[in-house]
Amino acid sequence: MKKLMAANWKMYKTRAEAKATAEDFINRIDGKLPADREVLIAAPYTALESVGSVLEGKPDSYLCAENLYPAEEGAFTGEISPAMLKDVGCSYSLAGHSERRHIMGETDQMVGDKVAFGLKNGLSMILCIGETIEQRKAGEVQKIIDQQLEAGLKNIPADFAPETVVVAYEPVWAIGTGEVAGEEEIVEAHGFVRKMLKNIFPEKANEIRILYGGSVKPANCAQIIALDNVDGVLVGGASLDGESFSQIALA
Ligand code: PGA
Repeated sequence: MKKLMAANWKMYKTRAEAKATAEDFINRIDGKLPADREVLIAAPYTALESVGSVLEGKPDSYLCAENLYPAEEGAFTGEISPAMLKDVGCSYSLAGHSERRHIMGETDQMVGDKVAFGLKNGLSMILCIGETIEQRKAGEVQKIIDQQLEAGLKNIPADFAPETVVVAYEPVWAIGTGEVAGEEEIVEAHGFVRKMLKNIFPEKANEIRILYGGSVKPANCAQIIALDNVDGVLVGGASLDGESFSQIALA
């Protein structure tokens, strides 16, 4: 199972900025990416084509959307379908990032619809989950992980290939705050994720990658990816700069 080193650029970068950052990143990792690693960039819709033009043909490099709408086409002003994402070169999409859940009001059910529809339409999906600080303080970490995984993976095709489903555990209180979760917290939460995956998909659970996200940076990445059940990282702020994201990808 290759580790997935993923960037999430959120609502940052014009096309030109995105292209320049992607080029800088790719040049820095060129010929150096270990054989057991893959890299991925999730970019804003408007920059997907520019970033895709840089990643195209590069080994173990994938283009990812940050969101999708679960319908083939239709009267859904402002939305983008999996077919459109594949047309622009995406092989992955995120679903249920905490900013979508908490700012845009996406429910577990909506996130589950996106994951299932994306997979049925040929995208690999990264399901983002994670508890808020209030939920952690109330001792609800496992409950929230179970709920979000249950709903998020509910209707996926029974014959899915395990490498096409990725879970990103991102505690909401660690995203963009500089406050990375402690090693014990990460190991515990990833253990809960693996356990729940085993309940739902006994045969495939060990081949589903679980990423950690939340204030990952060059200085802490190597320790984090060495932890049990950590199969990669999803990086926001520290991925916006080609040098910093290359240090993470090669950490
Ligand atoms: P961060 O964001 O690395 O800036 O904390 C992570 C994410 O939102 O995926």
